This record gives sequence, C-alpha cells and structure tokens, in this order.
Amino acid sequence: MSERMSYPYEAPQSQSLFDRALAVTPGGVNSPVRAFRAVGGTPRFMVSGTGPYLTDADGREYVDLVCSWGPMLLGHAHPAVVEAVRRAVALGTSFGTPGQGEVELAEEIVARIAPVEQVRLVSSGTEATMSAIRLARGFTGRAKVVKFAGCYHGHVDALLAAAGSGVATFGLPDTPGVTGAQAGDTIVLPYNDLDAVRAAFAAHPGQIACVITEASPGNMGVVPPLPGFNRGLSELCRADGALFVSDEVMTGFRVSKAGWYGLEAAHEGWAPDLLTFGKVMGGGFPAAAFGGRADVMAHLAPAGPVYQAGTLSGNPIATAAGLAQLRHCTDEAYATVDRVAAEVSGLVTEALAKEGVAHRLQTAGNMFSVFFTERPVTDYDEARTQEAFRFNAFFHAMLSGGVYLPPSAFESWFVSAAHDERAIERIAAALPAAARAAAQATEETAK
Ligand SMILES: *Cc1c(COP(=O)(O)O)cnc(C)c1O
Repeated sequence: MSERMSYPYEAPQSQSLFDRALAVTPGGVNSPVRAFRAVGGTPRFMVSGTGPYLTDADGREYVDLVCSWGPMLLGHAHPAVVEAVRRAVALGTSFGTPGQGEVELAEEIVARIAPVEQVRLVSSGTEATMSAIRLARGFTGRAKVVKFAGCYHGHVDALLAAAGSGVATFGLPDTPGVTGAQAGDTIVLPYNDLDAVRAAFAAHPGQIACVITEASPGNMGVVPPLPGFNRGLSELCRADGALFVSDEVMTGFRVSKAGWYGLEAAHEGWAPDLLTFGKVMGGGFPAAAFGGRADVMAHLAPAGPVYQAGTLSGNPIATAAGLAQLRHCTDEAYATVDRVAAEVSGLVTEALAKEGVAHRLQTAGNMFSVFFTERPVTDYDEARTQEAFRFNAFFHAMLSGGVYLPPSAFESWFVSAAHDERAIERIAAALPAAARAAAQATEETAK
C-alpha cells in the first residue's frame, strides 16, 4: 500500500533501521502491531521517552497516545520508577530465589483487588492467561474454554481463535501453527451476547472449564460490556461449576486503582474467580500476574498439582519497577488520567464532527478509541464494518502533526498522568488537518 500513498514526513533514520530490521527479524518488528502494515509507511523507531513524549531516531518528538500499549500510566521515565530500577539493578539482576520485592508486589495487588486472595507472578500477559486457563482446567477437570470474538488474551494457542489486537488489525482468520487439537476445545462466541453463552452451556453441560473475557475489551477498539453482561457471565459460570476468568491485563491498574473490577463488579457485589494482569503492573518491565480465589490458586505447584513456573518470574528489577509505579498510581493520578482522557476524546469528536465524519467515540473508563461508523459498536462483527481506511488517513495526519496513535483502527488509545496542557494543545493543533484527511479519504487513497 505504501507505493501509492505519499507520506508528508520522511523518517530517514527510522527507514534505515527498519531496512536493517527487515533483514534479521520477520517483518522488521518483534510484535506485529508495532509495524505500520495496516496504515502504511515506515514504523518510527523510538530512542527515548519522557512524560507524555516519545522521540524517534530522526529527532522528532511526538505526543504519545499509545503509552507502550497501556503500561505507562505515569508517563515515560517517571523519576520514582527510574530511581527504583537504578537501586534494584545495583543489587543484582536475577537470583532464581524468592525475594522481598515479589512479596511486596503480590501484597500490593492483593490489597487493591478484593477477589484476589492469592497471586502468582509471571513475565507477560500471555503467560498469565495461559496459566489461568491451565489452572481452570486443572481445577475443574474439564477441557472446554469459552472466549469471545475480538477479545485478545495474548498469543496463547487455545485463545488465538477470532482474537483481537494484531489478529484483528491484519484480518488473520486463524493462525497456522495452532493445531485442531489445541483450538478444538475453544468455543468462540460473539461478545455481549449472553444468549449465546447460555446456549453453549446448554450444549456442553459440565464440560466448560472457564469463560475468559477481557474485563472491558480494548483489543478490537474499545467495546465496553453492556450493563449486566459480565455479571451474567459470572452467574452462568457459577450455575454450571465453571470458572469466570476476567482478563484485566489491559484494564488492571489502568482504569482505576482496582482496574475494571473496581469500576464495575465491586459495586455490583460479585467477583470473578480468577483475574489476569500485566501492562501497568510492570512499570514498563516484564511483570504480569494471575490470581483469585485461594481455593483455586491452591491447586498450583508446589502447593498443588497444576504445574507452572518461570526462571524470571518475580524478577527483582521488574518487581521494583512495578511496585514503584503502583505506589504512584494514586487516586490523584487516576483523576488526572481520567480528565486527560475526557479532554482528548472530546477534542477528537469535536474535530471529526466539524468535518462531518461519521464516527463513534467509545470509552471504557479512561480507555477510548474511535470507530469510523455511525452505529454503536458492541461486538467484533460491528467493529469490522467501520471504514478503517479513514483511520489510516487520520493516523498519518496526526503523525505529521507530532502525535503518535496506535497504528491500527482496532486498538485502544492510552493517555497518562503526565499528559499536560502542552501535550493536549499539540493534539488539538494536529486534529483539524487529521479530521479533514479522514473526511477526504476513500478506499482508493488508503490502498
Ligand atoms: C496485552 C494483552 C495481553 C497479552 O499481554 P502480553 O504481555 O502482550 O503477553 C493479554 N490480554 C489482554 C487483554 C491484553 O490487552
């Protein structure tokens, strides 16, 4: 697609690094969504970040609305996180023994989220969901797993069916390398459709180990649960003896101190059986976790028979970074992130409306994204009917204006507590041209 569309800003250093990367790494990136495949052009190679800004290899500064896909809730290079890491590194980088930081991080998580009675630390969100599902199967003695189309739970074999994020961005139907046996016990249902879940339990009574869902999906764009959906899932699971696994890798510690649980379930008086975390809790380092009911967690080795392990699990640098970040994720920080999200999303809607661009700005706490469609989006099929070509034009105009958006129409946008007036002004300044570009885009210009 890059031949026909011209991009206003050249990025010679990024281009040169990308050429080298393409020679030694498939597609030139170590995670597909970082490539600009969906939007065209050269991915920017970033060399530094501070507060709400990223600087690329060509020395251009961008207001960052990706925030490392969620983790950087306090902005880049937060002094407290940097200092905690500096101190931890000086003491050694990995021991392969238990350490104090792991206990403190686990205590912090347990203290914030009531249904998490026990927690196990891992290194990525993928590991967290993979392990939670193994535990659910081990605990229930059942094989089947229900997931929802458009929800992404990491690149776990059994969960890649109809996944969101990069799988949605690139329209990959199913992934080669995942065998029928690995995916055969996965039941994929439309999101926000309790009747479909009811029917699945009726068709497979006593066979479903767990239902896993994003607490509020952000990997097909932001598609929040309809009122009562999560609670309904929890009730259906309980009635059949299955576990309800709420994937809070994206929402955990981001949308509130207690994640989506804190925004929804805590007030409604119900709780998931297991929850998974990652992103924010690592402070920019590889730290993730899964946890929940103590009687379920007791089935994990070495307390119980379900095996799960990791050489770098609870790594002292990652736990130090995560702890420092979580300790600065105060009520005040969340209030700031919420306010910035409301301001930025308001500006986006205003600019698009002015140009008469049909769009839906959808929010879930302080996560938000734009769908280029008139209708509300409640599931993956509806998300895919949007005019994604308009996003591509919008994306490049914003990039030209010094604003870095997720390079995909199917991802949440993220802000931080460090996004200040100057950053918001830069976004406001870039928006009119981007809205115009979106208005003028056609399927042809986007090819
Ligand atoms: C990012 C994400 C994952 C995977 O986490 P990784 O650390 O990238 O493996 C899992 N679930 C959700 C909801 C996510 O957003």
